[in-house]
Amino acid sequence: MKRTKRDDATSSRTAPTEQTSGAAATEQDRPRDASGSNGATAPDTAAALPFGGLAIDFSTDTGAVPIATSVPTIAFGPDIAPVELTPGGPDEHRFEHGRTESKVLIVGSGPAGLTAAIYAARANLTPIVLAGSAPGGQLMITSDVENYPGFPDGIQGPDLMAAFRAQAERFGTHIVDVDVDRVDFSSRPFRLWAHATEYRAESVIIATGASAIWLGLESETRFRGRGVSACATCDGFFFRDKEIGVVGGGDTALEEATFLTRFASKVHLLHRRDQFRGSKIMVQRALDHPKIEVHFNTAVDEVLGDTHVERLRLRDTVTGRQWEMPAQGLFIAIGHKPDSEPFRDWLEVDAKGYLVVNDQTNTKIEGVFVAGDVHDHRYRQAVTAAGDGCRAAIDAERWLEAQGIIEASTASAW
Ligand SMILES: Cc1cc2nc3c(=O)[nH]c(=O)nc-3n(C[C@H](O)[C@H](O)[C@H](O)COP(=O)(O)OP(=O)(O)OC[C@H]3O[C@@H](n4cnc5c(N)ncnc54)[C@H](O)[C@@H]3O)c2cc1C
Repeated sequence: MKRTKRDDATSSRTAPTEQTSGAAATEQDRPRDASGSNGATAPDTAAALPFGGLAIDFSTDTGAVPIATSVPTIAFGPDIAPVELTPGGPDEHRFEHGRTESKVLIVGSGPAGLTAAIYAARANLTPIVLAGSAPGGQLMITSDVENYPGFPDGIQGPDLMAAFRAQAERFGTHIVDVDVDRVDFSSRPFRLWAHATEYRAESVIIATGASAIWLGLESETRFRGRGVSACATCDGFFFRDKEIGVVGGGDTALEEATFLTRFASKVHLLHRRDQFRGSKIMVQRALDHPKIEVHFNTAVDEVLGDTHVERLRLRDTVTGRQWEMPAQGLFIAIGHKPDSEPFRDWLEVDAKGYLVVNDQTNTKIEGVFVAGDVHDHRYRQAVTAAGDGCRAAIDAERWLEAQGIIEASTASAW
């Protein structure tokens, strides 16, 4: 899908119009993950297209290199036919359980899980990937990925993940699109259950990612990728000289608002309480910034626009008064939720539920490794998750060698 030119109407300002409302507490008062277990949609036909086939249109004045209209096929070498990329990857393995025992079992199929699979498969460990009900992970719900190295013209998130998957399968990875419900890490082989099927593995790499917490508004979901985002690092670039809102009151929101001033002409920091939760220094930095306007006691009731965000309907959380404010973008910065539930009884988690790694990618249980956003709340990028997947696979392989489960050998095979 190609980003479309922004029409002139998008930059026109609408004068704030006041409305009255007796609106009771909205969805915003009870933040939740609107997109299910992983923030990514299931790979049905609509969701397999970025944003369900909707176009992004923030490119006109970014100076960005135009995105290729179609993703080329990837040729894997002279002996192998080019693989046609299918967003979301091949579907034929869905619910087909097949092999259930492996030396390495990987949970999750985002950049971390599939990179771990590529490395483990190339080391002849014939890994199984339990890919989850949102195969491909978070990048399946985004369109342009412009910061993943190797794609100078950018690439669509689903196309990137289809290529990851094809590469993992090429070397013999067995992928099943199921969620792990529970595990038993008390002894080896480790046992994991998904859809009532038991899997056994000598080592496990957990790469189940994290989900952005959204406000839960229908209009917020509709405008995702068309002005609504949960990742300033990923999407800030598309908002050069735009007026935008940032929702939240903690350090994440303060940091994202400050970061976004590099691009936006004005940042409205919208917080439903009367003071911030963030650290003093971050609060001061935001309050002092000439491009940031702070709106306390302010909730977002609706995102308004035609094909993209044009206005926000805001509400005073004390009086209930509603009004509209022009804005071409909205960043939701109210936190992330790590998808660590099935493992919490066995592994250490921090106060927010992120898995804790003790040394490199190791956990407190020998043979269980962790990669990607499920432990990394600092970087949260595809390339760092992929790097982590590589590290976890190498750590798993070396650990299997040390146990004598596989022959020591492959240091040079990477
Ligand atoms: C809208 C959006 C846009 C983004 N844009 C960019 C960008 O432009 N550039 C960039 O670098 N980063 C971007 N990111 C961030 C990037 O997507 C993440 O940092 C990256 O995907 C993390 O990879 P991961 O493999 O750790 O986890 P994820 O991508 O979250 O993948 C987790 C996987 O685990 C699976 N899973 C979860 N629970 C279970 C379970 N119980 N059993 C089995 N499987 C399970 C899921 O189905 C999924 O396949 C974006 C994120 C979002 C949400």
